[in-house]
Amino acid sequence: MADLPTEHLWLPYAQMQKTPTPLRAARTEGTRIFLDDGRPLIDAVSSWWTACHGYNHPHIIDAMERQLHAMPHVMFGGLVHEPAEYLAARLTAMLPGPLAHVFFADSGSVAVEVAMKMAVQVWINRGVRGRTRFLSFRDGYNGDTLAAMSVADPDEGMHALFKGYLPEQVIAPLPRDAETTAEFERLLGEHAGEIAAIVIEPLVQCAGGMKMHAPEVLRAVADAARRNGVLLICDEIAVNFGRTGTLFAHTQAGIAPDILCLGKALTGGAINLAATVATSDVFDVFLSDDPQAALMHGPTYMANPLACAAANASLDLFETEPRLDQVSAIAAQLTRELAPLADLPGVVDIRIKGAIGAVEVNDLHDLDWLKAQFVEAGIWLRPFGKVIYTMPPFTIASEDLSAITGAMADILPRWAARREPKK
Ligand SMILES: *Cc1c(COP(=O)(O)O)cnc(C)c1O
Repeated sequence: MADLPTEHLWLPYAQMQKTPTPLRAARTEGTRIFLDDGRPLIDAVSSWWTACHGYNHPHIIDAMERQLHAMPHVMFGGLVHEPAEYLAARLTAMLPGPLAHVFFADSGSVAVEVAMKMAVQVWINRGVRGRTRFLSFRDGYNGDTLAAMSVADPDEGMHALFKGYLPEQVIAPLPRDAETTAEFERLLGEHAGEIAAIVIEPLVQCAGGMKMHAPEVLRAVADAARRNGVLLICDEIAVNFGRTGTLFAHTQAGIAPDILCLGKALTGGAINLAATVATSDVFDVFLSDDPQAALMHGPTYMANPLACAAANASLDLFETEPRLDQVSAIAAQLTRELAPLADLPGVVDIRIKGAIGAVEVNDLHDLDWLKAQFVEAGIWLRPFGKVIYTMPPFTIASEDLSAITGAMADILPRWAARREPKK
């Protein structure tokens, strides 16, 4: 199998002209990805932040196997099924307040699209015209589809490249201090009449560079949304299910979003599934004798039973295994082991929140060399946007976590030395 061609694949976020030959994964187990040459790699990033219980957890595999034989898929139009009903009931019971209605999607980006479509239609259904824009934040990331891209950071989100095609949103700074608060409030006040909703990633802007903010900042955003009469969409796709230390991140600020997006770790990393959860107030705006007032959306594989079964099994594990305790242990260990890296050349910041540890550097040179060094050290880690970070499975053994932080401590100084200008 080793010489199967990869030339027919188009890889994500890759310049295909010069992308190095990707490694080939053969199987996974626990915290490890095994390459087809047998080399095990400790997964420091939980397969894009999904595998919170590690890989191949027997409880999730069993649940999926049972579902696979009963009904791997059935259309959701006109039919429902127990895995979806059970999952929706459990999610809404876990969530605080009136978040009571779950719309399932097959990827996080689509969950965000659905949230944005819902928000715009809330105003249309209420008979309010002109509220078709969104306010979002610098360093934000909410997915790769077009509406999701439009609310991303203008530079990272390639707004210039797609100018004229992407809807133009109002992008504000997070209100962290007097200056940014004034700017945020000014933009919101000026545009409130055109804005359907504010979109925010609670506590950690992950793909935008692991930028963290205090619960007070999130609370200020939520308060401003209320004061200005716009809806609040929390995109928890990256941080949901324990990543920041609580099951859901927004609860740390005690706020109540109108619409909440879930994804990534929803199935414990076994299979794709995402969800858009709305409050009863939002849901009720779609109840009408007018067929046009309904939410016209329905992904073909919506609420796939196999994915719902995996998600239900993942939720079981949050009840039966000490996931949140594991997250606080990881946070403590990251705090201890990453602190010394602050003194390394080129390191400008160390940020830790729950099971997220990020080392920000002043530039990201020799990226392929850097990635190869981590693989050499037996670690799977994907630096981006000036951050070298870990978001490990919550089940990671402390010596494996030490192997990750130890590899960072070993590799970063050698990498910084390569940055010296060569004359
Ligand atoms: C990954 C991510 C998305 C997009 O999810 P996909 O499943 O990749 O479409 C949206 N929002 C946030 C915050 C994310 O981290």
